[in-house]
Amino acid sequence: MGEIKLASRMATMKESATLALNARAKQLAAEGKTIHNLTAGELATDTPDYIQAAVAQKLQHNKYTPVAGLMELREAIAQHSREFYGLGWIKAENVVVTAGAKPAIAASLVALLDADDEVIVPTPAWTVSYKPLIELAGGHMVEVPLTAELDLDVQAIEAAITTKTKAIIVNSPNNPTGTVYSTAAVGQLAQALQNKNITVIADDIYTKLVFDEGFSAVPTAGFENLIIINGLSKSQALTGWRIGYLIATTAVAEATTSLLSHITGNAPLPSQYAGLAAMERNDQPPTSTLDDLRRKRLLVSAGLTDAGINFQMPGGAFYFLLDLRDFTDDGAKWCEELLVDAGVALVPGDAFGAPGYARLTFVADDSTLQSALSQIKKFVKGTS
Ligand code: PLP
Repeated sequence: MGEIKLASRMATMKESATLALNARAKQLAAEGKTIHNLTAGELATDTPDYIQAAVAQKLQHNKYTPVAGLMELREAIAQHSREFYGLGWIKAENVVVTAGAKPAIAASLVALLDADDEVIVPTPAWTVSYKPLIELAGGHMVEVPLTAELDLDVQAIEAAITTKTKAIIVNSPNNPTGTVYSTAAVGQLAQALQNKNITVIADDIYTKLVFDEGFSAVPTAGFENLIIINGLSKSQALTGWRIGYLIATTAVAEATTSLLSHITGNAPLPSQYAGLAAMERNDQPPTSTLDDLRRKRLLVSAGLTDAGINFQMPGGAFYFLLDLRDFTDDGAKWCEELLVDAGVALVPGDAFGAPGYARLTFVADDSTLQSALSQIKKFVKGTS
């Protein structure tokens, strides 16, 4: 075989750091090492029974659907989202069903960006995939740090806006911090973006996993130009089924549909039926999922405090962002040593625009979390 020369755009395209670390932790476990793998960005629970039952009845269906999804599903998502966000403009024609949230983000960026356009990303954030997707669409990511409380820094965002700024990606609850942006800051951002023709891409994939009262989702803030990204990966533990959607103006919905018609075509049909079943229940996660996460959040916060590690209490999703700066100048090296010496896999913050930090996912069972926390404590006491 000759050597196939890759396009220059692939030079900076690396496999998702979170997926790569998950694979490495699994490989070490397969070699017989005891590994507490706290890297994966997915719930540990099985597919909810009601979704399995609904899809099982549809397995005889096997044909292409319209690229933007079954009309009944688009209608169900539109109705649910109108009520959830209180946004009356959302109709079926504004909804495009996709094979997971990732293609929804990718298609939105390709549809929006011209060469060298800028996309502001308040960080820490899921730059793991935002950056390569922005660059694939020909743009540049502009990172703007969150405040010390991990809220949006609207002044800093305003200062970062240039004539090239096309969009800003806002993700709340946030991956990797788990924090929820304040209603006040999101409202100020909506004010600051008035008449600026900048599109807010609200990555709402974790909006159904919120632990405390008083949550107000980003899209409710009254942004003029808005694309909502969502899906069932996190709310219904369906990461492997690949089902998500975007909600936007009809022009954006049509453009992204055209694009996806040449890439994925429609989202997998069984997963669309799963979506229909979920929408009939307002895409509410099982109560046991939320209760479980609330309990584990307390368990982990107590363990981290005991280990002397700084963090902010997450308000949603299933992540803690550990501040390692008291222990090391090199968070990635610290994580590598933690994995090899203590058998605990975390994701270094570098992947999220947060060097000196590490992300811990708290979906594992209680005994794994407890044992991981005690390993982390021993490791910290040995290195600090
Ligand atoms: N957005 C954020 C913030 C995520 O953390 C993830 C997955 O980890 C996604 C989008 C992608 O979701 P999906 O698996 O549905 O493509």
